[in-house]
Amino acid sequence: MGSRAAQQRQEARQLAARLSAEGVRNVALTWVDNAGIVRVKTVPAERLAAAAERGVGMSPVFDVFTSDDAITASDHLGGPDGDLRLFPDLDRVTTLAAQPGWAWAPADRYDQLGRTHPACQRQFARRMTERAATVGLELRMGFETEWVVARAPAGHQAATDADEPLDYPCAGPAYGMTRVVELSDYLRDVTEALSVQGIDVLQLHPEYAPGQFEVTTAPGDPVRAADDVVLVRETIRAVSVRHGLRASFAPSVVAGAVGNGCHLHLGLYRDGTSLHRSPDAPWGLAPEAAAFLGGVLGALPALLAIGCPSPASYLRLQPSQWAGVYQCWGVENREAALRLITGAPDDPDGGHAEIKTFDAAANPYLAVGAVIAAGLHGIESADRLPEPQTGDPGVLGVRERARRGIVRLPATVTEAADRLEKSAPLRDAMGEVLHGAVLAVRRAEEAHFAGSEDDEIAAATRWRW
Ligand code: GLU
Ligand code: MG
Repeated sequence: MGSRAAQQRQEARQLAARLSAEGVRNVALTWVDNAGIVRVKTVPAERLAAAAERGVGMSPVFDVFTSDDAITASDHLGGPDGDLRLFPDLDRVTTLAAQPGWAWAPADRYDQLGRTHPACQRQFARRMTERAATVGLELRMGFETEWVVARAPAGHQAATDADEPLDYPCAGPAYGMTRVVELSDYLRDVTEALSVQGIDVLQLHPEYAPGQFEVTTAPGDPVRAADDVVLVRETIRAVSVRHGLRASFAPSVVAGAVGNGCHLHLGLYRDGTSLHRSPDAPWGLAPEAAAFLGGVLGALPALLAIGCPSPASYLRLQPSQWAGVYQCWGVENREAALRLITGAPDDPDGGHAEIKTFDAAANPYLAVGAVIAAGLHGIESADRLPEPQTGDPGVLGVRERARRGIVRLPATVTEAADRLEKSAPLRDAMGEVLHGAVLAVRRAEEAHFAGSEDDEIAAATRWRW
């Protein structure tokens, strides 16, 4: 810790001076809890060097917070005792374009002796990235961000008002240019804020549900992808506030309607060469890429407890809504949970895969870490991909689905948590403390919403993420 702190001191002082010169007053240090909520401690810009040296104190109890701010407990965590230190990642300090006077940095968590906190999700993601690197694999990942924008009502009503009508600021059709025209200043400001913050925006478009949009950003290493999705989301939120709007990233904004996904794109590389572009292999997939994706596909029921963590997630997971509710894969099939994206044959970056099932209630660090763990387990076990599926499994009869071996992914968070509980590879990768905390939060949320109507769950969670 001593040398680590000393090494960072000089860099942090220079950074703090630069931030102050830019007019930054405060730096927000964020981490994401196991319920997917971005939690924060802030320090004045001139305290950044001290924060980088000694960390900022926080309670380990946050690992067992639920999305409604209740507190549960696991075998290892819970209660008022103990302290952790939050260390900003100085390489990711970003001046926030839509929050004048503010900067942001994602944080890692250590104990007071400088040891890794075993439930630190960001370090879990880094550990899994390094584990892939030890077998020569590099992953490039990126999350899609979908959100629904609504006018912010006067007086900011209680977040749990089930009857709150959503007042959309645009009325145009799904994917319609009308929406872009109606919200042209807002969407320009979103794009501009992202790009001045160093986020490489690939595209932005209106989505299917009322008031819904999507932005996609360039892939990066897994930890960067998770950091980026936090920054993208908080930037969209901040731009929305400045336009008198509110952004919902919740899986189910209106029960029974198409929801917000947060699809995870992943590409595998060895020595800088894509493993999705093997000339003679089926679908261009090098055998180890096929085994990795086979491992991910096989682990999807357990991965849902991480990628679709809320009871609200399961309101979104309906067939025929492009949310990927069947455990199957397909080439460019938007109803398969795992979609292989081939791209144009001459596009060197075109080949990759997409997990469509995940949503923005997921902790993105847990999501990338768990997917890598499942994929590496697939390689170790020499997993294979079954036959790809074409078409929408949701319109097939039960018998035809059974004949093709297509099963429905968990339809409740309870079912997904049961699968995660039994998953030895994921428990081993996460470690008992993190695995136990995630399960405790899932169990607490399922108990909290037991007996709630769908629209009550959607309303209670609409503005939480
Ligand atoms: N909104 C859909 C979902 O819930 C995804 C639409 C798309 O494929 O982008 O995941
Ligand atoms: Mg979309």
